[in-house]
Amino acid sequence: MIVSKRLLSVAALVCALAAASFTAPARADLLIEHVNVISMLPGQDVQTDMNVLVRKDRIASIAPASTEQAELSDVERIDARGQWLMPGLVDMHVHLESDRLFRLYTQDPTIPRGTVRLDDALLLYVANGVLQITVLSSTPETIAQRDEVENGRVLGPHIALAAMIDGPEPVWPVGMTRVAANPSDGRQAVRDVAAEGYEFVKAYERLDLDTFIAICDEAKKLNMKVIGHLPQNGKGLTQKFFVPGFSMIAHAEEIAQQEDPPADDRIAQYAQWVKNNGTWLTSTLTVDDRILEMMSRPETLKSRPELQYLSPALRRMAIEGNHYVKGANPGWIAHVQRVVDFNRKLIPAFAAAGVPIVAGTDALVPGIVPGFSLQDELQALAQAGLSNRQVLESATRLPAEWLGTSDDRGVVATGKRADLLLLHRNPLERIENTREIAGVIVGGKLYSRKEIDERKADMRRRNST
Ligand SMILES: [Zn+2]
Repeated sequence: MIVSKRLLSVAALVCALAAASFTAPARADLLIEHVNVISMLPGQDVQTDMNVLVRKDRIASIAPASTEQAELSDVERIDARGQWLMPGLVDMHVHLESDRLFRLYTQDPTIPRGTVRLDDALLLYVANGVLQITVLSSTPETIAQRDEVENGRVLGPHIALAAMIDGPEPVWPVGMTRVAANPSDGRQAVRDVAAEGYEFVKAYERLDLDTFIAICDEAKKLNMKVIGHLPQNGKGLTQKFFVPGFSMIAHAEEIAQQEDPPADDRIAQYAQWVKNNGTWLTSTLTVDDRILEMMSRPETLKSRPELQYLSPALRRMAIEGNHYVKGANPGWIAHVQRVVDFNRKLIPAFAAAGVPIVAGTDALVPGIVPGFSLQDELQALAQAGLSNRQVLESATRLPAEWLGTSDDRGVVATGKRADLLLLHRNPLERIENTREIAGVIVGGKLYSRKEIDERKADMRRRNST
């Protein structure tokens, strides 16, 4: 089954607070002139030909370009005529490498400190316009990584932290996950997660039902949201997991795995359970699409250009140590094909039922390259039948709502943090246009396409030696 094989292969995980080569450019306030603003505020259309003033890390004003702003002499003016400004993108399901995770997965304690460079690990997110990620296997290292970014020492997306709790015989090595064998252990694990400074609980694969429910209940008491798998597949327990506090399903695939083969005719029922519980869905279509692609056509591991940006260790895991490719057989391929087909039906049905859907990708699973995978996910969601506006919502305003960062992020509006994308083309017309990045604005600092490309090229050069 997809989940268990996935894990084996994430022996690719690597991290570090490596030497920060990132030097913050001198900050100039920005006036983005004549830009078309896609605010992502509900009900608001594109605002054409606007001037957007960014002071420090905030949007100070948004006004028609015809408004005279000649008096602004202290700003860097960006001529954005014919360009489009939208909120930075969010990937709600990623894994972020660290030295320690790499050691845990490979069971190789000799992996040296500094194997992973944090600036490299995060660059592909920024280069693809992803300015917020949620790390679903957070460790103490992830907390430190988050702080490196927030303190401005490393260029990267905001990092939200979810710590994993699994059942006895956990799928992942202890150190990356906690273990709870019964409800009282589950409650204690949640209190530990909260006390240690994580923001969310990730409930995992091998929890029993009572422990899962206790985890959700304890988390609710502590005002923490639970994002989870649906454990105990195939036992007819699905509905019982939808309890107060269970806030987000971590993959569309979780629903597919409830029965083998996946039961298309039960999608409407699943959607009602999810909707009635107020639970949201993280999509992660792209990981299943890509697994199917790698298993059926392993040559794409050579032809997909994004793989060349991975560090040597990650590239080895993706290409030589790829368990999907190694384990591929007609039966498994047929199973993954059924999951992929099911996912495509589930997304529009859940959307129609009013289940909020957010974009996530499981980045760092071998062959799933950070940043690029979110761009793939947006396309997959559009192919599944969401409108381009719904797709953009799934990766901007909705994740900010779930993460509790709406006051700060998720839309283009006065007072919000200036985490923005400048695009050459309109993504509401064609979703692939989110790839047409003219510049990325991170906390009010503009990184031009040229500068981003230079950083990527430098990283590729270093990684190829
Ligand atoms: Zn994951």
